[in-house]
Amino acid sequence: MVHFVGAGPGATDLITIRGLKLIQNADIIIYAGSLVNPELLKEAGPECRIYNSAHMTLKEVIEVMEDGEKAFLTTVRLHTGDPSLYGAIREQMDELKKRNISFDICPGVSSFSGAAAALQAEYTLPGVSQSVIISRAKGRTEVPEKEELKALAAHQATMVLFLSSALVQDVKQELLEGGYAPDTPAAVVYKATWPEEKVLRTTLDKLPEEMAAAGIRKTALIVVGGVLGESYEKSRLYDASFTTEFRKGKSEP
Ligand code: SAH
Repeated sequence: MVHFVGAGPGATDLITIRGLKLIQNADIIIYAGSLVNPELLKEAGPECRIYNSAHMTLKEVIEVMEDGEKAFLTTVRLHTGDPSLYGAIREQMDELKKRNISFDICPGVSSFSGAAAALQAEYTLPGVSQSVIISRAKGRTEVPEKEELKALAAHQATMVLFLSSALVQDVKQELLEGGYAPDTPAAVVYKATWPEEKVLRTTLDKLPEEMAAAGIRKTALIVVGGVLGESYEKSRLYDASFTTEFRKGKSEP
């Protein structure tokens, strides 16, 4: 059996209880060495075999899983954040299916949640934005044309960009062309929830120079949108006059 496990964004106590137990009981762990906190590996048993996938190809990863399966061993494939986002798990799952190796997925706290916590932000504010666009700038990995940042910018929703910090000039350019105002609030969270976390608050216009000044080029998320600004409307949920399934609204005195 193979378990894909979300390691969380960095802080070791942000893995789920289920994920931690899977690590503790694993015979083999293959971890994404570029971003998974190595401290988590200390939870593995003394006999556990540990591989860093940063040095491996897909074929080699699958071979380790396959050999483990033949020996009736349990493998944990440890991915950063939540495996469903930019985790390249689909290609692994498809190879496992071809080989009749069963697997499951243990979700994790994504770095976009870690970044919101670092920013003390709510991504969905009434009167500002009720949607979060998770995307990336086009780099070595192509982005479908329909999803170019310029096109997504038309929504003026909260935008959280992964894998884009080295491409921040393009990000600024495309979002401006797409319709965001230059003074739209923007932020960068470097290594959210790690001890070395850095938070930078600025505007879309100044984003590239501020990031360059702070020396941030990787392991960061770019957040853009009015939710990082000052104005919003209060939610209906806690409005005294609003009746919900759980509370009868009363008219205010
Ligand atoms: N599955 C992961 C994302 C993997 S892609 C998740 O759910 O978070 C790798 C990218 O995620 C990095 O380039 C960076 O943009 C972002 N990232 C991962 N961990 C991060 C962290 N702790 N702080 C900020 N960004 C992070």
